[in-house]
Amino acid sequence: MIELQKHLNTSLENKGYQIRPSIIQPRSVAIIGGGIASACVALALTKKNIKVTLYCKDKEVAQGASSNHVGALFPLIHQQVDDISLFYQQAFWHALKSYKDLSRKGFLFSHDWCGLLEISYKIALEKRQDIFQQTTPWPKELITSVNAEKASELAGITLQHGGLFMPSAGWIAPAELVQQLFLAADKTQLLTIKNQVNVTELNQQTDHSWQLETSIGSINEALVIFCGGAESIKLNIIDELPLSSVRGQITTMATNDHIKNLSTVICHKGYLTPAHQQQHCIGATFEKNSFNMTATTEGDQYNLTMLEKCLPKLISWSEQDITASKARLRCMTPDHLPIVGAMPNIAQHKKVYAHLAKDKNWRYQEPAPVIKNLYILTGLGARGLCTAPLLADILAADLTGGVYPVGTQELFNLSPNRFVIRDIIRRKFL
Ligand SMILES: Cc1cc2nc3c(=O)[nH]c(=O)nc-3n(C[C@H](O)[C@H](O)[C@H](O)COP(=O)(O)OP(=O)(O)OC[C@H]3O[C@@H](n4cnc5c(N)ncnc54)[C@H](O)[C@@H]3O)c2cc1C
Repeated sequence: MIELQKHLNTSLENKGYQIRPSIIQPRSVAIIGGGIASACVALALTKKNIKVTLYCKDKEVAQGASSNHVGALFPLIHQQVDDISLFYQQAFWHALKSYKDLSRKGFLFSHDWCGLLEISYKIALEKRQDIFQQTTPWPKELITSVNAEKASELAGITLQHGGLFMPSAGWIAPAELVQQLFLAADKTQLLTIKNQVNVTELNQQTDHSWQLETSIGSINEALVIFCGGAESIKLNIIDELPLSSVRGQITTMATNDHIKNLSTVICHKGYLTPAHQQQHCIGATFEKNSFNMTATTEGDQYNLTMLEKCLPKLISWSEQDITASKARLRCMTPDHLPIVGAMPNIAQHKKVYAHLAKDKNWRYQEPAPVIKNLYILTGLGARGLCTAPLLADILAADLTGGVYPVGTQELFNLSPNRFVIRDIIRRKFL
């Protein structure tokens, strides 16, 4: 066991509640998961010589949100250079590098870095495109404005509108990627995957270890990392975080002569991907607070109608061209940023930092009270392919005392305790 130095912030501006807790580097951890979040964590931690046991409730990994035929890899970029866009920009470059490294090492998954075009299909988006063109807030390698002619050339099909083009973005087969990440972690001989184990309750023991109640009985683990996505936001303790489920359905369509040459991902209100195994993905629906994972004909109809509305007469698809449909759940946070770090003790936060309700700038020195040996990486929303690798490296730094890949304010923007601190400041508990 290595005693780690506390990650103390030396800047005077830092507040106690922003200090990440220090721990002794664990020899082994348990992860609840099976999707892209847990796969990236498993790889990051096994690389640091930590033994990982993964508990996944399904027969195989990558059966939840990370199971789609195709997903787009691209950052969320606003017109303004704000905190959210800066985070997604960094996460995007980090993900691209991680996936290219994985592929170079022989862990192969279907993908194409073919670029992604956000079509300006309505006036508001044309105005946004004009502003991008005039002010160029972001580097050209990330995003650039293109007219309809250039857009058509990039897409390999005739388009009526221009848009914003991300030349380094593209698509990935998420389930294949997850399998390859686990395979890479497995090569370290430090990973054990236990499928068909549903974790139903978390109980902390007096020595701060965890008793997991599961579908195969009780299991004791020293440290637990929750990467269960939206399917388990009602698990005890995790249910104290403001997470919600947003159902999404995608529809897979047979290619045809009109669309087979599509050579870039297209985003409108939804998205349309180039042919992979003779099929294109269109989607997706957004249904708040739904946990229903059964695909519906209404969902398919919505996807077809949305495509026709945003890109009229581009492709003459009908229900007969549908080859598959899938509905899964996105795990959302109220501020559209994911969550990574130690699980806060929310009741203690309300007591310790109560004075923030009177003075939001009160300089508390007390470090954030946490629930020992419980960590979270979730809330990946609609961009998990983009953010998971960077978040996993942040978590690895939490557990090993390594250097964080992001700055102090960004760490707090991603921290699980940011919501309770904001609620105290907003006087929600008075
Ligand atoms: C329709 C749709 C389209 C999307 N398109 C894109 C896209 O184009 N690009 C993009 O980047 N993102 C996209 N996303 C979002 C992306 O899929 C998610 O952000 C990402 O997959 C979340 O990964 P995760 O590992 O957190 O969760 P999941 O992939 O859902 O994995 C959670 C895992 O935990 C397991 N689990 C849960 N609870 C338990 C428990 N109690 N015990 C044991 N095991 C448990 C589950 O079985 C599952 O394997 C899309 C999502 C949807 C629904």
